[in-house]
Amino acid sequence: MTETTPNHTQTVEGWAAMDSNGKIAPFVFKRRENGEDDVTIKILYCGICHTDLHHVKDDWGITMYPIVPGHEITGVITKVGSNATNFKVGDRVGVGCLAATCLECEFCKASEENYCDKVQFTYNGIFWDGSITYGGYSKMLVADKRYVVHVPDSLPLDAAAPLLCAGITVFSPMKYYNMSQPGKKLGVVGLGGLGHVAIKFGKAFGLHVTVISTSPSKEKEAKERLGADDFILSTDPERMEQSGKRSLDYIIDTVAAKHSLGPILELLKVRGTLVLVGAPDKPLDLPSFPLFFGKRNVAGSMIGGMKETQEMMDFCGKHNITCDIELVKPDHINEALDRLARNDVRYRFVIDIDASSDH
Ligand code: NAP
Ligand code: ZN
Repeated sequence: MTETTPNHTQTVEGWAAMDSNGKIAPFVFKRRENGEDDVTIKILYCGICHTDLHHVKDDWGITMYPIVPGHEITGVITKVGSNATNFKVGDRVGVGCLAATCLECEFCKASEENYCDKVQFTYNGIFWDGSITYGGYSKMLVADKRYVVHVPDSLPLDAAAPLLCAGITVFSPMKYYNMSQPGKKLGVVGLGGLGHVAIKFGKAFGLHVTVISTSPSKEKEAKERLGADDFILSTDPERMEQSGKRSLDYIIDTVAAKHSLGPILELLKVRGTLVLVGAPDKPLDLPSFPLFFGKRNVAGSMIGGMKETQEMMDFCGKHNITCDIELVKPDHINEALDRLARNDVRYRFVIDIDASSDH
């Protein structure tokens, strides 16, 4: 624990939830000294992922309070350990969900550390030294060099921050399931943080992108601002069936709450693939009929490995892909979380960590 870990001597200001009412308040805590494999990062921006909301409210029953959320972190390096030769002071960098992995298993060796059985996350994890990890809703982070990526100079650090989780989470399955063949048809279910980046990657890969959403108000923006080709309102089952049956090669489902998979599966062509990346607190029902009548596949995917995260960042640099964000001051994190819970976000809140308080 931080209090009893001897080299946790650096005092950091951050923001934490103390219990499952999920309210965020200022919180001062300790971080470790910068070790030889570490870099120290002055955090400038941190995205607010729906996973943060699940955690502060203990939706999944795994939260260790106090919790300092945040795994869409960008900032500038202020200190470099002697082994962290890939980085220098002043570098613009990002940290996503990973804080530690075993470094030895087949997944760690294959740059798929995210599937390491001993994976520990940037917050609510247990680091190698036994301390509980605290995330990016804070002013400074000490991170092991293996879990830090460079942010291309062309990308602004605020609008790039959500790429560290939302971005890689949709990029990774798109690559793995070969969703980068121009002309193929992708469906994106849920137009929030993950969903809006999925549209952008889809268009960059030359795909035809259909949004499947519960929010009629998002249709215009999805098409005009984000470049989606089509929009299906999932609350209208008749229209779902008429307009989309057997029309899509793949679907990425980002929905954060329990919902029905049958009508979504019907949208897939024969042999199409549905990848679930949303993390509802209750299991989803998987009906057999639309599965076997269409020889369809259902898969899951969790964030991505570090090599792929850097690849995604560089891809975004090259194609000028950033997130559509609403910047909030640290004083307004609770408001942002409330709005995220109400599905009132276009399309990612990002905390401006350095912004002065209102008081
Ligand atoms: P978000 O910004 O809140 O977007 C989720 C979208 O789902 C909403 O914008 C909404 O889109 C749709 N939705 C429909 N019904 C909903 C309901 N009852 N409650 C909430 N959303 C509903 O969330 P996000 O940050 O993109 O994250 C989405 C999910 O992915 C979360 O469960 C998160 O924990 C999970 N996640 C997983 C990974 C991974 O590695 N697999 C990584 C990051 C996040 P419409 O208005 O268009 O219907
Ligand atoms: Zn996330």
